[in-house]
Amino acid sequence: MAKIRPVNSYTISDTNTVVKRNLDSYTIRGTNTVVKPGDNVLLRSPESNTTPYVAKIKKIQIDNGNDVTVQVRWYYRPSDSIGGRKQFHGEKELFLSDHYDIQSAYTIQGKCMVHSLKNYTQLENAGAEDYYCRFEYKAANGLVLPSRVVVYCKCKLPENPDLLMVQCEECKNWYHPFCVDMSNDQAKQLHLFICSNCNGAKRLKNHSTMQSLRKRRFMGELKYYRTRLVYGDYEKATKQVIDRFFITIAQKTVHVWDTHVFADSISSAMPFPESEP
Ligand SMILES: [Zn+2]
Ligand SMILES: [Zn+2]
Repeated sequence: MAKIRPVNSYTISDTNTVVKRNLDSYTIRGTNTVVKPGDNVLLRSPESNTTPYVAKIKKIQIDNGNDVTVQVRWYYRPSDSIGGRKQFHGEKELFLSDHYDIQSAYTIQGKCMVHSLKNYTQLENAGAEDYYCRFEYKAANGLVLPSRVVVYCKCKLPENPDLLMVQCEECKNWYHPFCVDMSNDQAKQLHLFICSNCNGAKRLKNHSTMQSLRKRRFMGELKYYRTRLVYGDYEKATKQVIDRFFITIAQKTVHVWDTHVFADSISSAMPFPESEP
């Protein structure tokens, strides 16, 4: 006769049913530090020597076996993201991910602070437990949001709070000393920094002011001499104007005369008639 397996010969024991209830707080083992949902914490990584993980506590729960677990939302370090660490990522930068997990509360090592970038840069003394976050991270596809942020300097990169920047007094843009051919020490000793763009614009402005001043002077001279022109002697008169003008500018200015502009001024200012009586 075939063997028949007994049916309903066992029952599920009640002790196997896990019942969880929420806790308002949890005291980190071996410390007096109390953590609550919303707090940011460092979690021991399984490999004891590596840097701790960082997470935001969403929920703290205790079960009927007195095991405390935390539901966490992971922060990713840029180096752990799909895109990897970029030049503008600071040492203490974290991405707030959409990756949730449940961990034993025993893995909580300590509390930490995750600031906004602005607040982080304003900290007097950022400690080991101070981090900052400006990006969110989609763990499934490696998307980092927002995809557009303010960029600075000639290198057009977002701010890296670990790198020194100097502000141009004119345009108020910030520059990395090494991007404008300066050392950090040189930048720190500067009383005033004007970027090359603003310097160039300033020179250009000065240059065109000088040119129009010269042109006005030239026109004045020309007008004066034209009233005294003897018909038929334009060549001589023009030479007089030019000679006189050169002497005038040589006496009054130290800048090198732009002969092209000068030539343009003559041709536009002196439309000599083809024939005169
Ligand atoms: Zn730069
Ligand atoms: Zn500037």
